[in-house]
Amino acid sequence: MKKRTQLTTVGRDKKFTGPAVNPALVRASTIVFDSVAQMDESAKQRDDGVEYYGRRGTSTTFAFTQAMCELENAAGCYVYPCGTAAITASLLSFLSAGDHLLMVDSVYEPTRDFANGLLARMGVSTTYFDPLCGAAIKDLVQDNTKVIFLESPGSLTMEVQDIPAIVNALKGQEHIISMIDNTYATPINFKPLDHGVDISIHSATKYLSGHSDVMLGVASANQKTWRQLQAHSYELGQCASVDDIYTTLRGVRTLGVRLAEHERSALAIAAWLDDRAEVDHLRHPAFASCPGHEIFKRDFSGSTGLFSFVLKRSSNDALSAMLDGMQHFKMGFSWGGYESLILATSDVSKRRTVTQWTTDDVLIRLHIGLEDPQDLIEDLEAGFERFNNNLNGNG
Ligand SMILES: *Cc1c(COP(=O)(O)O)cnc(C)c1O
Repeated sequence: MKKRTQLTTVGRDKKFTGPAVNPALVRASTIVFDSVAQMDESAKQRDDGVEYYGRRGTSTTFAFTQAMCELENAAGCYVYPCGTAAITASLLSFLSAGDHLLMVDSVYEPTRDFANGLLARMGVSTTYFDPLCGAAIKDLVQDNTKVIFLESPGSLTMEVQDIPAIVNALKGQEHIISMIDNTYATPINFKPLDHGVDISIHSATKYLSGHSDVMLGVASANQKTWRQLQAHSYELGQCASVDDIYTTLRGVRTLGVRLAEHERSALAIAAWLDDRAEVDHLRHPAFASCPGHEIFKRDFSGSTGLFSFVLKRSSNDALSAMLDGMQHFKMGFSWGGYESLILATSDVSKRRTVTQWTTDDVLIRLHIGLEDPQDLIEDLEAGFERFNNNLNGNG
């Protein structure tokens, strides 16, 4: 089945939908049973998609987890109230005091904060590694290494990791659990479990829901890791609102067409930026200037609407002049909705420890939404004019 077809079919089991196209929205805390025997039976099956107590989910939850399992080729899938909760619960499910964690240096900042904060306090040590290390990851493994945490492309700077090389280098050390933050790619453009990763994590807040109105996280696990992830996530009290789950499953139906448009517009705008005098280089994985571009071409089936570029020179005032006046690009965190976003940062080097970010120059991250790209280019063009006028003292 082709990807777009699959998006329209996943999770639509009759037991979830009844006669309707979509699963019913079943809100519940308490599930009531008709008999002691039924209650006992449900208790036996409560870890396998049978209603038992609201925190374990309802049929709405199970329709979504089944859909994600089908998309990720996973044995099981757990839903969390946001992507960050999916990341922290996955790490906590496999790390104990005295364990060692390997984490990619270009990781999403709150993930790094969790490793340096709560995990450090609990006696878990972390070594950060170069996103381009490939098989050299072997040299960083310690006797107590328990988890390797990947994210590709990396947050903000977009380095693409050689996931197959890293996973292969760890072959024979099956006690090391590999996890990836797969939010950028979505299951459409990269399926980590097919490449030997144990757990694939998404901030469903982004493209999966896709309309900037939901916070949700999801972790999809292989046979080896599923039961442990499920048990400990449940012990942590992790669960999510069925309204948000329903809304995200609705978003999944249009993920293919949305991503295709995000990708097409982003490629056009990136190509336009590549020719701009103000731009030092692009950090778009589909362009050769992005570290790991060759790996991206090999492993990913497409790019999305998210990319960055580095300015040749700038000033705070010039940046403000540019960004404050944008008409279509809004300033804000998150991404993956239908709207375009712009974010500037000058402190990339503060967010990493083992790899060098050699430039002090400003990095701008764009999320290209579903607006007409010509309007977006005109918005950027006017922005650069304000930027240049300000830099040249005419602002
Ligand atoms: C947004 C984001 C997260 C966190 O997701 P929330 O739903 O906001 O908690 C994690 N990883 C990446 C790559 C993200 O972009």
